[in-house]
Amino acid sequence: MTLDDALAFAEAQGWPKFRGEQIWRWVHDKGVRTFAEMTNLAASVRDELPALATLGSLTVAEVQTSRDGTRKLRLVTRDGQSIESVLIPDGEKTTQCISSQVGCAVDCQFCATAKMGLKRNLDAGEIVDQVYLARRLLAEQEPDRKLTNLVYMGMGEPLHNYDNMVKSLRILCDDKGAKLSQRRITVSTSGLVPKLEKLGKEDVRPNLAVSLNAPNDEVRDMIMPINRKWNIGKLMAALKAYPLEQRRRITFEYVLLAGVNDSLRDAAQLAKLLRGVKCKVNIIPWNPHPEAPYERPAPAVIDAFQAECRRLGLPTYLRTPRGDDIDAACGQLANRSNGSPIVPLRVRREPPPPPPVE
Ligand code: SAH
Ligand code: SF4
Repeated sequence: MTLDDALAFAEAQGWPKFRGEQIWRWVHDKGVRTFAEMTNLAASVRDELPALATLGSLTVAEVQTSRDGTRKLRLVTRDGQSIESVLIPDGEKTTQCISSQVGCAVDCQFCATAKMGLKRNLDAGEIVDQVYLARRLLAEQEPDRKLTNLVYMGMGEPLHNYDNMVKSLRILCDDKGAKLSQRRITVSTSGLVPKLEKLGKEDVRPNLAVSLNAPNDEVRDMIMPINRKWNIGKLMAALKAYPLEQRRRITFEYVLLAGVNDSLRDAAQLAKLLRGVKCKVNIIPWNPHPEAPYERPAPAVIDAFQAECRRLGLPTYLRTPRGDDIDAACGQLANRSNGSPIVPLRVRREPPPPPPVE
């Protein structure tokens, strides 16, 4: 429920509206998970509530901690679906990566989540509860660390679950509730053009990230089938029309795949495509997972790609993989901790050793 929903809920019970706000604040500001903890309500109301409403959409099934401090949470919905969320410490900052769907329908060829297909959308409660459970975990395990940033970059395509995604933003950014700052929230999309146009007109204004991943339609068609519907031309036109707030820029994600999109020509084409767009590029060297036929480029190739982009005036950053030892890095979320079969990782073929010198 948004705060408005809670007020309407109170009215529907014949209660004063402020009681709706009291209850809502307990959930979204204080983070309680039982009605019994709502101590400013009359005991009779607290007793009545469990028959009228439920609290908390998810339970924590498993927490895995990476050697770099990244934590992956496996969370289970009321109907027994598993989703994943990742907590990434980075100096003073702590970023949480949240899921918007169980699986994903977009079918990008390099992504582990794609292999699950789409099971269902998460509702707004399931989206926000990921944040509340993560806050709880931090408060218990690392009380000095606060959640500072939020990215919709976990499982799923947020713009395929548009209404729940926008509703979750409204709830999380309400200054009577969780009080997250819109400037510290980023929604990432594979480029659903009509929904991008719609998002540009909302009153909630998260940062925007776009998974571009290729500098031309030929390559993008191959690795992201969605490009056949909304190609780079249509995507760029929508992004150029997107109303950006002052001092904000669009982030383009570019998964680097060896031999597919990592040449200096690709870098030059990318720089040309993005010339004049207020943006930065995050290069994500491909994170391996068993089901895809790709390889991560060699470090020298990654560096050369970044250097070429920069030389051509494109602000380009390298994302170091976080939590890859627990399959928590970008594109590795697929509930593999949940008993799905693990196919052995494709081993990078090294050139044969040179013949012995006589
Ligand atoms: N569905 C949205 C949100 C998920 S974000 C989107 O695609 O934007 C996931 C990010 O990780 C995307 O930028 C995607 O391009 C990237 N990604 C997917 N699989 C990857 C992999 N195996 N290695 C590195 N990055 C990957
Ligand atoms: Fe879905 Fe994003 Fe993975 Fe593509 S990269 S399949 S849009 S989660």
